[in-house]
Amino acid sequence: MNSAEKDLSLSELDQQTEVAVLQARVAELELLLKEKVVTESTTRNADKVWQRESDEKIRFALEASGIGTWEWNILNDEVKWSRNTASVLGLLPGTFRGTYDGLLEIIHPVDREKVQQAIQAAIDELGYFEVEFRVVRPDDSVRWFAGKGKVINQETGQAARLLGVIYDIHDLKHAMESLGFLVEASHTLTASLDYHITLQQLATLAVPKLADWCMVFVQESPGELRQLSVTHADPARIDWALNFQRDYPYDEKRGRELQKEVLRVLHTGEPQYLPEMTDEYFVSIAVDEIHLRFMREMGPRSKIAVPLIARNRTLGVISFITSFESGRNYGPSDLEMVQELARQAGQAVDNAWLYRQAQEAIESQRELDHLKDQFLSIASHELRTPLTTIKGYSQILQRDMARRAAANADQPGANNAREIRILSNMVNQVDRMETLVSEMLDVSRIQSGQFVLKRSPGIDLEEVIRRIVEQQQDAAADHHLSFQPATEKFIGTWDEGRLEQVLNNLINNALKYSATGSPVDIGFYPAGDNEVVVWVRDNGIGIGPEHQTHIFDRFYRARTPMNVNVDGLGLGLFISYETITRHGGRMWLESELGKGSVFYFSLPLEGGTEVAS
Ligand code: ADP
Repeated sequence: MNSAEKDLSLSELDQQTEVAVLQARVAELELLLKEKVVTESTTRNADKVWQRESDEKIRFALEASGIGTWEWNILNDEVKWSRNTASVLGLLPGTFRGTYDGLLEIIHPVDREKVQQAIQAAIDELGYFEVEFRVVRPDDSVRWFAGKGKVINQETGQAARLLGVIYDIHDLKHAMESLGFLVEASHTLTASLDYHITLQQLATLAVPKLADWCMVFVQESPGELRQLSVTHADPARIDWALNFQRDYPYDEKRGRELQKEVLRVLHTGEPQYLPEMTDEYFVSIAVDEIHLRFMREMGPRSKIAVPLIARNRTLGVISFITSFESGRNYGPSDLEMVQELARQAGQAVDNAWLYRQAQEAIESQRELDHLKDQFLSIASHELRTPLTTIKGYSQILQRDMARRAAANADQPGANNAREIRILSNMVNQVDRMETLVSEMLDVSRIQSGQFVLKRSPGIDLEEVIRRIVEQQQDAAADHHLSFQPATEKFIGTWDEGRLEQVLNNLINNALKYSATGSPVDIGFYPAGDNEVVVWVRDNGIGIGPEHQTHIFDRFYRARTPMNVNVDGLGLGLFISYETITRHGGRMWLESELGKGSVFYFSLPLEGGTEVAS
């Protein structure tokens, strides 16, 4: 091999090496490129996966919370919604036209304009909208939804897209309505005292808020129901129902058959709850063809009938029915609400009854009082004259007897002791009668406004009390009366005779309502500068708290086993109270059953309060 050959072969070798190196470099670059492509596509895929997952999560969250989303491309009038929106709205999949008009078509005709206006306002200026609307579902049921949305503008400021969400607010809205209805109903229920009117008003309130039809049945006699009213928002429909009933070939058996469901509610006291009424159901309960036709024409969807119970008596039954007009179906919350309503209605009727009974009792008490007053006035006037005469004659006889007994004192057995005793008893009894008659007279004077005080100035209270205590002590030898005089003088312008009467009444009662021999204390003390308080205390039977508030009432007697045999009219304290309050004073008591009582009265001192009598 020559040197040229050698050079060539060397350069060839170099070239070959260079090619090999380049090839290796290309391979390396290709590998790198390949790797890069792989890495890039892997990253893109991961992004996509992440994006997809995140969309999925959002979709899941939206679906789980019952929120449907939709988007309106305003420029080409294309509406797209998420795959759950149809089911949120309760529509059949694939029925939506995918345009704005198609969206509006889904909305209840009554709410359509409102929704349109809200969206338009958002497009025009606000950017956002929020609106509530109803949707009529393929089964004709109606549900409430809320829609919220946001307008996306182009750079030119022109509205390009509208993003919206839709969610079901039916139950919430319903709960709010129910609450509002119950509040309104509670006002209505207290408005009248006639329970027929109350129930009628309730039915009027319920339609159409709660029901399309409301029927009220009242139990006139046990087991017999009368339909009190049929209510519907449209008077023509009421006429239609009433005409049907009028023209129905009615006999008692058929009538019972027609009412059998209401009667069951009446008898069991349990509500009837039919969330979904189907044609098969109508067929199963129809009494005859006419009845079936009536039900089909009425088109009820759902029904709740509840008994109306007051004072453990079922007054009747109220039926709430929804029909095709509202497209509503009752749910468990409606049942609860209607039962609450029936409970309130029962309570209202109960109150009305109690009120009426109380009114009647007051009325008859008034009549009774009037008759008593009349009787008191007549009897006391009529009794007074003969009593005075009897008393006068008895006293004459008593004196005669005493004189004769003195004259015949030396003749044994001629002292007429027995006759004198009898006469003395007679005089005592006549005195008692006189007291009762004068009490009756006083009451009739008070009632007719003729009870007038005869006040005199300069009356010394201590003197009056001492006199009465002494008289009472003389008459009640088996009791000990103690009077605790005061160091001061209490002088007033009082009716002395009436004061004596009050003191006599309080001391008599203290003696009458306490055991023989038990002490009775009387005293008085100043109260402030212008008043004096007198008190009478006994250790007798006492007065229970339930009687204390009535004790100064006319004819009131605190009946207890301990005083059943004690005579009295229940007038003394009433007259005393009148006397003291007309003097400008007060009267009160402290008492404990079985322990005793203290009666107090106050009197204004000279220059004190004057009260017109
Ligand atoms: P009367 O004693 O004639 O029934 P009053 O008007 O004087 O009528 O008294 C009304 C009622 O008050 C009495 O029937 C009695 O039940 C009760 N009462 C009055 N004073 C006393 C007393 N000191 N202790 C217990 N009960 C009394």
